Amino acid sequence: MRDVIVLGAGVVGMTSAYALARKGFAVTVIDAASAPAEGGASFGNGAQLSYSYTDAMASPSMVVNLPKYLLGCDPALRIALTPSPRFMSWGLRFLANATRSSFERNTIEVLKLAMESRTGFAELSERIEFDYRSTGKLNVYSSHESLRNAEALSVLKNHYGAGQVILTRDQAIARDPALAHYGHPFVGALWSPFDAAGDSSLFCRNLRSLLENDYGVRFMLQTKVERLGTRAGIIAAVGTAVGELSCTRAVIALGAWTAPIARTVGISLPIWPVQGYSLTIPATALAPVASITDTARKMVFCRIGDRLRIAGLADIGPSSGEFKQERFRTLLDTAKGIFPKAGDYDGEVNAWTGLRPMTPNSQPIVGSSKVGGLFLNCGHGSLGWTLSMATASRLAEVVSASA
Ligand SMILES: Cc1cc2nc3c(=O)[nH]c(=O)nc-3n(C[C@H](O)[C@H](O)[C@H](O)COP(=O)(O)OP(=O)(O)OC[C@H]3O[C@@H](n4cnc5c(N)ncnc54)[C@H](O)[C@@H]3O)c2cc1C
Repeated sequence: MRDVIVLGAGVVGMTSAYALARKGFAVTVIDAASAPAEGGASFGNGAQLSYSYTDAMASPSMVVNLPKYLLGCDPALRIALTPSPRFMSWGLRFLANATRSSFERNTIEVLKLAMESRTGFAELSERIEFDYRSTGKLNVYSSHESLRNAEALSVLKNHYGAGQVILTRDQAIARDPALAHYGHPFVGALWSPFDAAGDSSLFCRNLRSLLENDYGVRFMLQTKVERLGTRAGIIAAVGTAVGELSCTRAVIALGAWTAPIARTVGISLPIWPVQGYSLTIPATALAPVASITDTARKMVFCRIGDRLRIAGLADIGPSSGEFKQERFRTLLDTAKGIFPKAGDYDGEVNAWTGLRPMTPNSQPIVGSSKVGGLFLNCGHGSLGWTLSMATASRLAEVVSASA
């Protein structure tokens, strides 16, 4: 029997289950939470299907600004050093990826994956509802130097089909009139016409129904995975809080919780959690139609149906994922400063925090592992929602080839 257990029902586990079920595997999905997307980063992320804006996190500019991040002087990005050897090892690999050539290579590799995902999402949007909208994205720049840098990178990306265009301030406002109400000066924007948006939580919920009804996928929710077991170097069991399940094939897609579970069978993975926040409020008539990224303040604004999702902040350090009121306040105040009239900030504000499962090179880890029958689909960092359809399809190819 071609059966496979998928660990994790975030967007990466759910798309993995979809791709594997379409290949004819009998799939069981296990998650500690009570519903898909509830327990991790797929619940309240920035909603961006960022097919062209795929810039790696480790970059030369990050190194220049490192003292600012370490001293807590940048509200959007903070680094708290921790003496953990795993953090140090991850941090050194992250820095090694911050050279110009590594940054460009990593950005292009992620771009290729994102472009693959685009086709997958367009097809799946015909089968399930998830507020999918292909309205493009504007990255707004506050200085001529940052705009020039964006232009240089867009020339490289456009060789791979990104289709990005630099706009003057007036052209950007013509593209999305909401920018006339922008709270800060800006000099121009980068237009990514193919970028889209959608609600990854709704996506996971509706994908669950499709998987159960059309493919007979089984869900074991509220089931916490504690360890994996092997026999002669081959996966043999998934140990959960409610007992052990024997298996011959499994996929780890546990987002920021992947590394500790992989370690139970001797696999070491360079994935570190990077904490971010989001808020969701009713959108007003002055909300942008396109997705907008304020690059200086590292914040994204995106319409999901009649709601406005605002996401940002990256806290790197000994993160437990605990919601910190003071950091959420930073997100809220910065958002009000950027788009004061785009949403109802005084009504009900849905606050959320989540952990990006970040690798040093911003590329996800997809494929087989040193344990026979155990596969990996993890480390999707800042763009897991965007990349999930492509990584699932690549994973399914590898699993099929080994079956
Ligand atoms: C603030 C913020 C904004 C973001 N914005 C965007 C964006 O705009 N576009 C984009 O593409 N990406 C964005 N991302 C990144 C994206 O959300 C993630 O990369 C993606 O959700 C990761 O999906 P995942 O399935 O790997 O992990 P998760 O969604 O975290 O899922 C992991 C699952 O594993 C389960 N789990 C954990 N431990 C166990 C265990 N022991 N046993 C059983 N189950 C367990 C959890 O319950 C959870 O359901 C953002 C992330 C953050 C934090």
